Amino acid sequence: MKKIQMVDLQGQYQDIKAEIAERFETVLDQSSFINGPEVQSFSTALEKYLDVAHVIPCANGTDALQIAMMGLDLQPGDEVITADFTFAATVEVIALLQLTPVLVDVLPDTFCIDPQAIERAITPKTKAIVPVHLFGQCADMEAILAIAQKHNLYVVEDNAQAIGATYTFSDGRKAKAGTMGHVGCTSFFPSKNLGCYGDGGALFCQDEALAHRLRGIVNHGMYIRYHHDVVGVNSRLDSLQAAVLNAKLPRLDSYNQKRRLAAQRYNTLLSGVPGVVLPKMSSGCGAICAQCDCHVFHQYTLLVPANLRDGLVAHLQSLGVPSGVYYPIPLHRQKAYLSERYNEADFEVTNRISEQVISLPMHTELDEEQQTYIAQSLAKFLCTDG
Ligand SMILES: *Cc1c(COP(=O)(O)O)cnc(C)c1O
Repeated sequence: MKKIQMVDLQGQYQDIKAEIAERFETVLDQSSFINGPEVQSFSTALEKYLDVAHVIPCANGTDALQIAMMGLDLQPGDEVITADFTFAATVEVIALLQLTPVLVDVLPDTFCIDPQAIERAITPKTKAIVPVHLFGQCADMEAILAIAQKHNLYVVEDNAQAIGATYTFSDGRKAKAGTMGHVGCTSFFPSKNLGCYGDGGALFCQDEALAHRLRGIVNHGMYIRYHHDVVGVNSRLDSLQAAVLNAKLPRLDSYNQKRRLAAQRYNTLLSGVPGVVLPKMSSGCGAICAQCDCHVFHQYTLLVPANLRDGLVAHLQSLGVPSGVYYPIPLHRQKAYLSERYNEADFEVTNRISEQVISLPMHTELDEEQQTYIAQSLAKFLCTDG
């Protein structure tokens, strides 16, 4: 059996090595390292793939979120509602811009932001909602967009974990994750579903004027060379990273399909193991259908009894099975984001699941033998100690 890895970047690279080498050589020969032709062609290809009017590449996913909020002209003191259960980058940029982060609870099935909790948190100062499409599936965008419209709020989608996922509205209309709000943000960090070989990110939007503003902000607020109309940043996707993304974007659907098949295998292997709650699908998908792309499994995350979780992690480790706890501490309890406005009673779900979640190895190179071993290792522990 191949050594089990949480994310196997090496195996996937070996598969596309020749194409990467060729594309790197082209960039090196052109020596157009910033905003070269590879960056342009990647933007256009991603616009087409997502069916979105504008893609603005940038240096990483955290910058994308920051630039989105700068582009929407949010001002210090404006309140921005986001999920308590996410990677810190989401809330970090809100605080960095001196906006006021307002963390709210998530749903117990999808772990994505709870629309009712959003509604309860709205005040006259609220300006934006940042739903996070956590672990590979979309937040309840239909409800979130309705709330945003009703209260005249911006929606900035944190799509770092769900690129390629499709959301289906109740009238049957479909949209790619990240293209439904005013701005979508993504990350091309190597371990994401569409990862480059360093840092990278992008913003998506439909609005021409907003796209123009964002393009200026990523480049020092310049719209005409050496004319700085707004305060900007330096946040660019470099041409070598764009070359990697150009090789991988045409493969994204098949990569996501491999992740889904791996998730399906886990579900089969783990159903019936005592104490294990399998990942739940939002929308109409009760089970993981291989055809459906409503979930692209950035993570395959189980709930296990809180008193056994850390022991399980250690047990798996001892058997050569890596696992991850995303995320062990709710953001409202992190020192940097403590606030008097929060009541513990309002975070019932995040408080509970942060003690129960365990993510198993998930990537495009997992094979059945490895997954069988992982499932057996997990069952052995839970059947004995659980
Ligand atoms: C990875 C991630 C980010 C940040 O992306 P970087 O490219 O690492 O800056 C933001 N939000 C979420 C939910 C993420 O998973």
